[in-house]
Formats: sequence, C-alpha cells, structure tokens
Amino acid sequence: MAGKPGDKKQLMSFNGRDFFDYARPLKLADGDFIMYFRYDQKEWFTLIDHFSRFILSSLMVAIIAALMLGYVLSKTITTPIVNIMHKARKVADGDFDQPLEVKSEDEIGELTKTFNYMAATLKRNLVEISSEKNKVETILNYMTDGIIAFNQKGEQIHINPSACNILGLDECDYDFETFSKKYDMGVTLEEVSYLQDLSTKEKDIAIGDRFIRVYFALFTDEEKKTEGIIAVLHDITEQQKLERMRREFVANVSHELRTPLTSIKSYAETLLDGAMEDRETSVRFLSVIDSEADRMTRLVKDLLQLSRLDNQQMQWNMEEVHFAELVKNCVEKLQINARNKEQQLESFVIGDIPDIKADRDRIEQVVINILGNAIKYTQAGGRITVYIGRTYNHVYVKIADNGIGIPKEDLSRIFERFYRVDKARSREMGGTGLGLSIAREIVEAHNGSISVSSEVGKGTEVTVRLPING
Ligand code: ADP
Repeated sequence: MAGKPGDKKQLMSFNGRDFFDYARPLKLADGDFIMYFRYDQKEWFTLIDHFSRFILSSLMVAIIAALMLGYVLSKTITTPIVNIMHKARKVADGDFDQPLEVKSEDEIGELTKTFNYMAATLKRNLVEISSEKNKVETILNYMTDGIIAFNQKGEQIHINPSACNILGLDECDYDFETFSKKYDMGVTLEEVSYLQDLSTKEKDIAIGDRFIRVYFALFTDEEKKTEGIIAVLHDITEQQKLERMRREFVANVSHELRTPLTSIKSYAETLLDGAMEDRETSVRFLSVIDSEADRMTRLVKDLLQLSRLDNQQMQWNMEEVHFAELVKNCVEKLQINARNKEQQLESFVIGDIPDIKADRDRIEQVVINILGNAIKYTQAGGRITVYIGRTYNHVYVKIADNGIGIPKEDLSRIFERFYRVDKARSREMGGTGLGLSIAREIVEAHNGSISVSSEVGKGTEVTVRLPING
C-alpha cells in the first residue's frame, strides 16, 4: 500500500514447492488495488521451456523461409543478369546468334529486350562494315593500279597484288624511305606528310621497260587527322608509247611531205632560173616534179584513208565475194610488174573456197599491197607464190616470196605507221610506209587477222585470214 512493488526474483516455498510471488499496486477508477501473482516455479520453467522451443523453431522456420525466399528472389533477379553477362561475352567474341529470351515485362525484361536490340544493331553494323571491307578488299585485289599504304611512321600496312606485279616482286615489304630510295623518287615522309588535304604529289619512275606514275596522297581519320600515306602506282607505259607514236607520226608526216616538196621546189626553181630553155632538161625535171607530186598524192591518200579508219568513218561496202577469184584477179593485175622484174608469180587454190562477206575493193587493196611488197622486196628473177585455201571457218591467202626478208627485230614493227626496214629502199620503190598498217586495219575491220613470218635472205610469208561468216 506504500506504492512499492514486490521483488520479482524472490521465491517462496509452500508445501515443498517453489513459487514466484509478486505484488503490485494498481490505481483504477473505482479505487486502489493490489494485484498479487503467484506462480509455480516448475510449471513456469516448463512453460518457459515450451515457449523458448516454440520461439526457436519459429525462428528456424523463419530463417529457412527467409533463406529460401531470398534464394528464389535473388535467382529471379540474378539469373537474367548472369545470362545477359554471358551473352555480352559471346557478343564480344562475335557470336550474335540466338537472342536472349524475354521472360518478364519488368525492368529485367526491358533490359533483356534492349540488350537483344543492341546485339542485333551491332550485328547489322558489323555485317555492313565487313561487307564494305570485303568490297574494298576485292577492289584493291582486282584493280590494275597498284596501291601501297604506309602508316605515319612510314611502315607498310597494305600492298595489293597489282603493286607487287608492277614492281616486279613476289613480295614487297618496303617501308616508305626504302621504297622512295629504291626507285630514286627523292620524296621524304615529311614532305608527303605535309601535303595539303586532298592534294597529291606525283613522281614518274621507270621499272625495266615500263613507266610508272606514282601518286602520293594522305589518308585521315574521322577527325581529319593524318593516319598515313597511300601510294598509287599507275602504269603509264601504254600512254607514253601512244604519246611517242603520236610525236613520231607528226614528225614522219612532216618529213615525208617535206622530201617531195623540197625536190619539187628545187626543180621548179632550176627551171625558172633558165633550165626551161633546154627542152630535154625541162621534160626530165617536169617528170621528176610529176612523180614527186604523185608520191605526195599517194601519201595524202593513204593518210586520209588511215584517218577514216581511225575515226570509223570508212564506208564499208559489204557484199558476197568470191575470195579465190578476187585474189586471182589481183595476181593477174600485178603479173606485169613481176614480169618486168623477171619474177615468177604463181597462184594455187587449195580445195573449195567459199564466198565470204567483205568489201571487195578494200580486200583487193590489201592483197595488192602485200603482193606489191613481195614483188618490190624480191630481187629480179625471184619467185612469188600465192596460196589460197580455207580452214574450218576461215579463208586465207598466203603470199610467199624468196626475197630479201625482214630481220627478226623488225618483224613486230612492220605494221606500225611509217615503219620501214630500209627507208631509202622503200622510198626509192615509191612506198609510203603506210601500206601494211592500212592492210591490218582493213583486215581487222573484217574480223580477220594478218601475220608475217620471215627470214633475212630467204624470203617472207604474209598470211591474211578472213572469217567465212563475216
Ligand atoms: P612500204 O610502202 O614501205 O612498202 P609497207 O607498210 O607496205 O610500206 O611495208 C612496211 C615495210 O615492211 C617495208 O618498208 C619493208 O621494209 C617491209 N616489207 C614488207 N613486205 C616485205 C616483203 N615481202 N619482203 C621484205 N620486206 C617487206
């Protein structure tokens, strides 16, 4: 009643059993009370024991349940992330197949979807890049120009087969300085590295009998920073050859025209200076002027014909032509020239010769030119034999003489314009040096071919083949 609670720990014995007892004051609305508790210690212990066991087992169950739940929860979150991680590794190794399965619509599902989209985009981009790369590689491998790429240090990083081919090497791993020195180009890495954007530097080099033009250019990265140098090797041998031929042609035409013009001028001047008084001299000089004018006419005629052939302005009068008869007519026409030189000119027809589709006048011009050459370049008393025959789909005429022949080194050039083995002899015989080149153009326009074989001192054989079916 003094307001002090009892001692909770104090035990009291009663009938040989221990009890907890405890008193506690309590103020309620209807007055002050004292609550008194008494409890059997044994029963209390059993209760406590039960209670503890219950709490323990509940705790165990709770822990196990928590662990299981935690495991299941962690699995649902980590498995897709681990899967994405594995897939990311595969993608990094270039395996883009089989996208990840989207199992939920939550953030993990969204992540999986985004990952799949990223992998697909990456794959598409890689396919595009690799097909671009393949395209560039194919172009580089099959282009006729040579390409060598050097990095900024001047080390070679790429060379295409054409470049090796042009340089005449099986393998070429020159760095920039060695490449420049070896072909005496006199260009340094620094000099080329300071080239302005898009500008190029050119150098012409000679490798054996070929002429190569080397263009240098810089290649840059996306930020326009120089990454290296590209050397493009362009074979200009053919261009040079054409240029040389063009120059030679102009020189030849001028020379060929100047010679008769000089003699016409000098003979005319001599006549004007008084030689006209002497009739005999006048006739002789005038006949020289006449023949020189004839030579100029022939030359100009040949040049005009060549120009028409070159510009494809030739009017071809194609018709059915009896080939054997045409050749025999030509032989007849030139029989007189051969006889004048006491040469034996014969023709033989081997087998049945079919008609061909051709321009009669032009083919006649070809045969007469070759036959005329055979007569011109065969000594008096020589022999010229003409064979007319056919193979599977061609007719041919072979004109063989036992004349002066053509040296081996000149054989490949006699079809060139103005090419003559012996200039003086040809001119003396009235030749322009254009006959065979015109003949070849005409034969090739008929889809035929012309070939020559010869041995100096033994004779020459020229064969013209023309297709039977045009
Ligand atoms: P040309 O008007 O000088 O005869 P061509 O073009 O007809 O010109 O012939 C070119 C050159 O080929 C001749 O100058 C000659 O040196 C040589 N040639 C052609 N045919 C013969 C042949 N049958 N025998 C020897 N040389 C020949």
